[in-house]
Order: sequence, then structure tokens, then C-alpha cells
Amino acid sequence: MKPTETDVLIIGAGPAGAVAAASLHRDGYRTIVVEKQHFPRFVIGESLLPRTMDLLKEVGLLDAVEAKNFIHKTGAVFRRGKEICDFDFANQAGDGWKYTYHVPRAEFDKTLADTVEALGVEILYCHGVSEVNFTDEHAEVALDQPDGSKRNISAKFVLDCSGYGRVLPRLLDLEAPSSYPVRESLFTHVTGDKRPTGRDEGKIWICMQKDGAWIWIIPFSNGKTSVGVVGMPEFFAKYPSDPEAQLREILMSEPNTAERLADMQTVFLPQRIKGFACSVKKLFGPQFALAGNATEFLDPVFSSGVTLAMESGLRAAQVTARQLRGEVVNWQADYGDYVMQGVNTFRAYVTAWYDDKFPTILFAAQRNPGVMSQICSGLAGYVWNKANPYVAQADRALRALATISTTASRAPQATASVASETENFFATDEQSAFDAKCEAQRIAFAPVVFQTCRILRDSGVLELVQKSSEHGLALAEIVTACTLPRYGLKVLMESGLGIGLFCLNRDRFTLTKLGYFMLRDPMTRVNMDVIHDICYRGLFDLDKSLTTGKPVGLKTLGDWPTFYEGLSALPPHAQQSWFAFDHYYSDQAFPAALPLVFADKPKTLMDVGGNTGRWALQCLKHDADVRITIADLPRQLDFSRATMKQNGYESRVDFCGVDMLDEKQPLPAGHDAIWMSQFLDCFSEAQIVSILRRASVALGENGRLHIMELFWDRQPNKTAAFCLQQTSLYFTAIANGNSQMYHSKDLLRCLAEAGLEVLEQRDQVGQFHTWLKCKRA
Ligand SMILES: Cc1cc2nc3c(=O)[nH]c(=O)nc-3n(C[C@H](O)[C@H](O)[C@H](O)COP(=O)(O)OP(=O)(O)OC[C@H]3O[C@@H](n4cnc5c(N)ncnc54)[C@H](O)[C@@H]3O)c2cc1C
Repeated sequence: MKPTETDVLIIGAGPAGAVAAASLHRDGYRTIVVEKQHFPRFVIGESLLPRTMDLLKEVGLLDAVEAKNFIHKTGAVFRRGKEICDFDFANQAGDGWKYTYHVPRAEFDKTLADTVEALGVEILYCHGVSEVNFTDEHAEVALDQPDGSKRNISAKFVLDCSGYGRVLPRLLDLEAPSSYPVRESLFTHVTGDKRPTGRDEGKIWICMQKDGAWIWIIPFSNGKTSVGVVGMPEFFAKYPSDPEAQLREILMSEPNTAERLADMQTVFLPQRIKGFACSVKKLFGPQFALAGNATEFLDPVFSSGVTLAMESGLRAAQVTARQLRGEVVNWQADYGDYVMQGVNTFRAYVTAWYDDKFPTILFAAQRNPGVMSQICSGLAGYVWNKANPYVAQADRALRALATISTTASRAPQATASVASETENFFATDEQSAFDAKCEAQRIAFAPVVFQTCRILRDSGVLELVQKSSEHGLALAEIVTACTLPRYGLKVLMESGLGIGLFCLNRDRFTLTKLGYFMLRDPMTRVNMDVIHDICYRGLFDLDKSLTTGKPVGLKTLGDWPTFYEGLSALPPHAQQSWFAFDHYYSDQAFPAALPLVFADKPKTLMDVGGNTGRWALQCLKHDADVRITIADLPRQLDFSRATMKQNGYESRVDFCGVDMLDEKQPLPAGHDAIWMSQFLDCFSEAQIVSILRRASVALGENGRLHIMELFWDRQPNKTAAFCLQQTSLYFTAIANGNSQMYHSKDLLRCLAEAGLEVLEQRDQVGQFHTWLKCKRA
């Protein structure tokens, strides 16, 4: 028999491979690590969990890591708008480590590999494993050497720690699909991060974005910060395709990250990874085992990757050592089950994160400190501690806790605190006299400012100046690149300068942050387009609308009693602007609303004011058994009919033409759920009461009325409240003359008057909406 060159060959010198090599070497086994790349090399996965400290210590690598002075990671802060849940590892149940590190992986992985090499383990860098053949006694591993030649190494055992390389899963056909959808991530390192101070500096931030997407902020001790976004491809598709612009726009559209990263500069072009979730059919065979990302990778949200990589690497090394010693080992019990205990605990957390159960727990009005400390211990990576119920039965425990948290949010104080806090935006006069006088001039010139901004945006000038980045453009260069004549462009650019869209240095224009948002911010775009295409001319007669209670400005668009009768006959660009505006706000809330509405498992749902049928479509996709009735003005139903036909759902949808302003027209009765989204704001308070009464009659015996509304007093910030307060005047001048974006108290009063009781309410669903679940009182 040919002698083997090594006891164990490890593929990959990442955290899994390094920890495994250190352990095997300490146990006296000849170990060779084969690593495809040259170190240091960049890899993502920079936030560790406290459990890694135990593992590093056990294999003698902790001192080398501690010597690097990486920043202490002291916890994790989850944010959703103004809501915060702060986990400090000092408060975790049990006696786990109270801190760990955020690490630039190039430096961290090299530190581990160098330390292992210094112990006497041979690491073959720039050697890629291309083939592995197993005989009864050993494995033959074929390597591609740096000079292009081949080399074979025979080993008694092969440990695959090749991470995303997934060498053995590919060669031995062990790949299995992940149970998670294909998400993607876009990330970079930045400077200019305005960090919190003290112990909070070292906490990772996880900020919830819309549509299930989220953002990480991970600070490093070298002054740089890792930032990244994770989401579905549809989420990213809504932003510019250029990675730098895309990442910046996403970060600037979330209030927490926008504030913290306002001055950021990227260190390298943002990188993208698609479809990182993966799985395998088995974790071991007679002469091999898989560890780390070569096994299963779930999702980055809880920073579990490196911890699971080290834990599995160490465990695989220990079981391998016992096998090489001639002991009988049970790989399934000693390795497979052990690794899956940790993976499955994190799986429960990841699943609960994306189906909104975990955010419900995180942002509940009342949180039990004892329970939160047990969850904190799980999040610290102690996912093998079965004394912790949020580990031993994580899935069940999290589901039960989410239910309790939802029920607790029924307590009036759950929303009252938000309401009173946001109302305080308007309690004091915070402007200095000088600022107030400046602001007054901006208002005096508001129509000029508005039109200048719009034309600079639509004529491509803002885009042009942005592309010139810090070099900027001279007026003559802009003239040659755009269609406006020199005079027109000159006055516009000078107006834009005064507005603050540009900076001017040495006769060259560069774009300011304001210019950037004017160009790229989706909310600014939809607001500006609807004001220009629908409201601008009609607002000239606002005073007449206010005195008559009629939408006098509507005549600038057509001859209809209210806007809704005319919507389907508007010129295409105006119709497009109105729907983009309407959908921008509602679409963000739909994914978050679905689990709330379907928690009661309704079989029949009536969507009152169904508009283009977008909500109905989401319901039909969400629940294969639900039947929908769309109720709307007969002419409006053409939009939703077209949507259903296009998507092949006609057989599960009924259409009900109804004018809700006609008190004599009832709604069809017997529904498990009735849904009204951004609908009641189209009516006066008296009309709302009448509509709610008819909805109450149309509810089935245990039916529930779900209302999604935008209340200006329940917004996360003053600007969001401002947008809604100004939108009210669109209703006055154009839509109907008598409705508005309401204060929450107005609607709660109408509900009580209509004999409906509020069972649950939640603010900032999506981002700006409040959801109310009601029943007949
Ligand atoms: C977007 C994103 C964010 C993440 N954030 C975090 C986080 O904050 N915290 C965290 O703990 N985890 C995070 N992760 C997960 C983390 O990246 C991995 O779990 C971790 O790097 C796995 O370590 P490993 O040792 O298994 O593999 P790796 O670190 O990938 O190391 C594998 C090594 O194998 C080498 N290799 C590959 N193929 C071959 C071959 N054919 N021959 C020889 N060598 C080969 C590679 O060059 C590499 O050096 C994140 C993942 C993603 C996708």
C-alpha cells in the first residue's frame, strides 16, 4: 500500500479550515491545508459572535486575534424606523463572552492562517483542488499548482472547508437546494461613518428596509465601516443599476442609515453576491467531512456564518482525530446531529426574521427582559445550550412569543407612545429667526424653485452633473451636452445654485446632497410628479376650493365632479404620475400587511376601493385558497379586471361596481375580511362613517375589517408628516374638496361612531402606514 503523505488534507484556509487545522495539529496529526488564493484576500462575513471566542481559545488562536486590536463587538442593534431593539452581550443569559470582534476578514483570516502555519501546519497557497478520488484506504487529491502543473497528494482523510468554493459538494454531487429564496447582497467599505460613542460604537446595526430587505453597518477599528444590503432581486431592481448609485440610494432611503452615513465615501466599488443560501445532501462520508460554508449557509442577518464555520470545523477535526486513532465513531450522532442543532436554531431565527415574527418580538411594546436575555444568548452564538428554551425549541418558542407580542401590542399604550412622540414634532418653534426668514423666502419663491428643480431633473442636467462627480462641469460643457439654449441653461443653473442643488468652484458645477436627492430619491420623484402633472395648475384656485368645499382645480384636468370619475380618462402621463404616487406609498406596506391580515386565515376577502388590483393580486399569490371581491366605482373596475386577466386570476375574483358615496348602495355581505387601504382618506368624515357602517354590515359573523391608512401624527419623522399634510390640499383642490390625510384621532372617532371596535393597531407598517384591525362592537 502506498504511504499517505498526510493524515488529513484540509481544503480552504478560511475560519473553518484554520480552526480544524489547529485542532488536528495539536492532536498530533499530519495536516496539510490547500488554499486556492493568496492571503490576504477579501471575503465577506465580518461580524463575529461571542461563541467564536470560546472556539478560538480552545484551539490556541485567541491570543493572536486579541493582539490585532480589532474593534470590540458588544452587541447588536435592530432598527425599524424609530423603533429600536438593543441587545448588549453583557445582558445575555448564561456566562458566555460579553464581547467579540468585528474583523476585516482579509486581516483576520491571514492572522489565523499565519498562526496555524507558525505552529507547523503546511499551507499550500495558490493551490486549487480540482479532483478527489477515494479508494478503500485513502483519498487522492489532485491540485493545480501556481505554475500550472498538477500535483497529487494522498491523505487518510479530507476535510472540505472550501466555503463558497464548495469543492466536494460539487465533485461528489452533494449539492442540495436551500429552503430560502434567492436573495442577493450588495456591500462595500466606507469612511465617514458617524458612529455612536462608548460601548455602543461596537454594536452592529441591522436596519430593516422595505419589502423584507435590510442593511448592516459594521464598524472596524481601522476607521472604515462595512455596509451592505440584503434583499430580493425585485427590491434592488427598483433602484439604479449602477452598484455605487444603487447602494447609496438604498442607504439614503432608510432614515437611520441616511443619518449615520450621510458623509460616507466608498472605499471600493460595491460588490454583489447573488444566491448565497445553499445546502448539501450529507455532511460526511467514509473518508471525508464537510465544514463551514461548504455545508449549509442560511443567511447573513444574524452574523452566524463564521461561528458555524468554526464550530463545525473544530467538531469535524475532533471526530476525524478519534477515527484516525482507531476509535469507532458515529459521524451522524457525533457530527451531523451536532452541527445541525446549531444550524437549525439559526434557521428558526432567520425564518422568523423574514416572516415578521422576529421583528414583532423585537419591536413589541412590552418586552420581558428575562426572555430577551435568553434570545440574546442565542444571538451570541450559544445555540448548543439546550437549557435555553430559545435554543432547544427555538422555532416553537419564537412563534409563541410573537403571538404574545402581537396581543400585547393591542394595549393602547403600544401606539399611544408613538402618536404622542410624533405629535411633538409640532409642539415647539425650533427655527432661529434668521433661518425662519430664509425659509420664508424659499416659500415666497416656491413655484419658481419647484419648476427649476423639475426642469433640471427632467432635462438631464442633474444627471449630467452627477456623472461628472467631483471634477464638476463648466457651464459651456453642460450647454454642449444638453438641449437647452445657453441663456435658458444659465438662468436655471444660477437658480439651482441658490436653491442649493449645486456647488460652484472655479466655474465648475458639482452636485450637492440636495441635488442628489432631487435626482435619485424615489419619494421626491413621485411627490414632484404628482404635484406637477395633477395639482400644479389647479392649486391656483385653492382659495375657491377652500371656500366652496368643491375641487375647483379639477377643471384644469377635465370636467368631472370628482377626480375619481376622471382618473381613467386622464392623459397617460398624468395617470402614470398619479398611480406611481399612490403605489409608492401603498406598495411598501403590502408585504408587511399580508401576514397581519392572513393571521386569521380568511377564506373570503373584500377589497374596497381595489384600484388597480395590486393588493388583491398579492393576496391571491399569498394564499391559494382565498377568494377576493374587488369593490370600486364601475369605471375603476376596468383597471383591476385587466390586472386579474393579465395574471390569470379571474376565476378567483368577483367584481362589484359600487359608488360608496351613495348611501343606498350596500356592500355584498358575509366576508371573513374586508380590506380598505388608502381608501378612507378619499372621503369626508361624515362619508367615512357611512362607509364604515356599511362595511360593518357586510362583515361575516367573525369577520374583521382591516384598515391601512397614512396618519400624519403617526409618522416616523417630521418630513413624512409634512408630505401627508401637504397631500391633503390635493384632496381639497383636485380630488373631491372635502377629504384629507387624517390625524389618527379623526379616524378612531369615525370608527367608534360607526360601531366598530379596534382590536389591534400597528404603526409604521411598511414605513409610513398604520394598520388597524376592527370588529363589530
Ligand atoms: C452577504 C454576506 C454577509 C455575511 N456576513 C457575515 C457576518 O457578518 N458574520 C459572519 O459570521 N458570517 C457572515 N457571512 C458568512 C461568512 O461569509 C461565511 O459563513 C464564512 O466565511 C464561512 O467560512 P468558511 O471557512 O467556511 O469559508 P471561507 O471563509 O469562504 O473560506 C474558504 C476558503 O476556501 C478556499 N477555496 C475555495 N475553493 C477552493 C479550492 N478549489 N481549492 C482550495 N481552496 C479553495 C477559498 O479561497 C477560501 O479562502 C456572510 C455571508 C454573506 C453572503
